[in-house]
Amino acid sequence: MINCISCRNVLTFNPPSEINILHSMKTKQKYIVTSALTYANGYTHLGHIAGSLLPADIYVRYRRLNGDDIIYVCGSDEYGTAIEMSAIKEGVSPTEIINKYHEANKKSYADLGISFDIYSRTSNPSHTETAREFFKVLYDKGILYEKTDQQLFSEKENRFLADRFIEGTCPVCGYEEARGDQCENCGSSLSPLQLINPKSKISGDTPVIKDSKQLYFPLSKYQDDLNQWLSAKKNWKPNVINYCKGWFKTGLQDRAVTRDLDWGIKVPIDKYKDKVIYVWIEAPVGYISATKDLFTERGEPDKWKEYWQQPDTKLIHFLGKDNVIFHAIIFPAMLMAHGDYVLVDNIPANEFLNMGGEKFSKSKGIGSVVKDVLKVYEPDIIRYAIASNMPENKDTEFNWEDVVNKNNNELAAILGNFVNRVVVFTKSKFDNVVPAKHHETQNEIFDEIKKAADLISSHFEKFRFKDALTETMNCARMANKYFNDNEPWNLIKNNQDKCAGVLNNCIQIIHSLGILFSPFIPFTSDKILNVLNKDMSVFTWDKIGEEVLKSGHRLGENHILFPQLELPKQTESAEQNQLITIDEFSKVKLKTAKVLSCEAVPKSKKLYKLKLKSGNIEKQIVSGIAEHYSPEDLIGKIVVIVDNLKSAKLMGIESQGMLLAAKNGSSLKIITVDGGMTDGANVS
Ligand SMILES: [Zn+2]
Repeated sequence: MINCISCRNVLTFNPPSEINILHSMKTKQKYIVTSALTYANGYTHLGHIAGSLLPADIYVRYRRLNGDDIIYVCGSDEYGTAIEMSAIKEGVSPTEIINKYHEANKKSYADLGISFDIYSRTSNPSHTETAREFFKVLYDKGILYEKTDQQLFSEKENRFLADRFIEGTCPVCGYEEARGDQCENCGSSLSPLQLINPKSKISGDTPVIKDSKQLYFPLSKYQDDLNQWLSAKKNWKPNVINYCKGWFKTGLQDRAVTRDLDWGIKVPIDKYKDKVIYVWIEAPVGYISATKDLFTERGEPDKWKEYWQQPDTKLIHFLGKDNVIFHAIIFPAMLMAHGDYVLVDNIPANEFLNMGGEKFSKSKGIGSVVKDVLKVYEPDIIRYAIASNMPENKDTEFNWEDVVNKNNNELAAILGNFVNRVVVFTKSKFDNVVPAKHHETQNEIFDEIKKAADLISSHFEKFRFKDALTETMNCARMANKYFNDNEPWNLIKNNQDKCAGVLNNCIQIIHSLGILFSPFIPFTSDKILNVLNKDMSVFTWDKIGEEVLKSGHRLGENHILFPQLELPKQTESAEQNQLITIDEFSKVKLKTAKVLSCEAVPKSKKLYKLKLKSGNIEKQIVSGIAEHYSPEDLIGKIVVIVDNLKSAKLMGIESQGMLLAAKNGSSLKIITVDGGMTDGANVS
């Protein structure tokens, strides 16, 4: 037996005598798909799923159905100050933190059907080796340079405060909780010294500035090459290109690639052996190490090179917009400098999925943890709800009513209904066996489904998952229409043979729907296969619209694919529903107040600064209602405020209370009082 050296297919013809035989067929396109590595310092949540995991999984599942040569790699990001910070908070060692969250997140992803080829981790020895080797090449090539740097140092803690050990006000947008490495609010990449009023995240200590020698990567030198390379990317999402252009405009800054920390991968150069490699320099190399781990597991330890060191491979990074700079600028520049690896082909980055208006941010503990969500809902329902509301081009809002509605009105009412009515009818009238075909049935539906599949393919190719899902559900609508138009419940009475033919077609359509839906809701597709009593071998993209089930084939047991759902009473933590006593409630002093003035807070889309009068007292309150009211709508209104709230600063402006408002999804209305009540009245 001889394999083609290029595509590895077994060659069936009689080979010529040469040893190196190149298969005459075109070599299959190779793909490496990555989802952003997950920090192993907390439980993964739905925001992360919407940003980088679900779109990648849908894409990979589609490509596999197509027979493409694709590997899907991801893993836990286990170094950096985020991990050490969590360890300090939980009072355990960093190793305990990474073990706990790596295992938990790996399980959540499996439970949600994220079909990695490997979910590796950066604490693996193989990654340490790969990252050190990568770093050493850059050093040996003379690319990295030493610079004495001013670093923030806490004398109280006797340590340098790098990255997330430091917090302060963002110099770009004024956000007060910007970290030492990045502002989560505006996405700017920062260094600790740029922060205004920096404080230690560990002790609150105000740091001093101390000199320290660091190695630097000359990112500024790569700006022209990066710009030229990115200019050729005509099929990238405009939002991703615009982020990059923005950074080019500001001018790329050289980056320190070493840190004075204990937790991390030690720098492989004697002179700097007490330092570690900056986590954002070694973590992306984790995609390469994970691929090595994958092929080591498969017993082909060198095969990773056929992907990473083959210039035609399409490397695709899925991620949220906060990671664009690392994947579109810094990692490609490092790969250019190194020279041995393929550069990214596309970065279909997503915006944020908001829940209750705020970004699902794991580092702030907002949002819904996947492992908890899966106790309430089937994974496919979550996958469907997120896919149909994916933040592809702008931030989107997520709420549980939408999940329930999509299950009841789409999955159950359209797809589930079609499968159920066909299978129930077949069981009662045709003994649960695929009935015979009939020459009089209308078969145009198969052409329509094939046409739809082509359109869906083109959406997948362009990373338009929402559009692909809409078209997929339209196929299920088409199927219901076919069933209704043919009225099998009447046909069975006066033309049983034709009725058999119609049902035969409907069963073939169920099979096509099973394939079409499988990138989105794979668990349901497995159930469909069970209902059809078939195995995965009939599940390939080219079988869509084909008649795969022979008449006489016995179907399996019917299952209701999507039981009706009700809104859960709670999906958030139990604390939020805890009852309070009247005494506890009476601690909150609510008063009426009149809005005297209202103005926008500079650089903020959401905030207004309001002056209010409550009896004899005047107050200033900063409130996040700017997207819902214009200032003139508010002036003169009698509103309800929390009067005894400790004052706080928002974007540097003091706020002496809180305005009450009702919120549902993206709709917000402030609470006013009925009739002609004066300001300063008690509300209870
Ligand atoms: Zn900022």
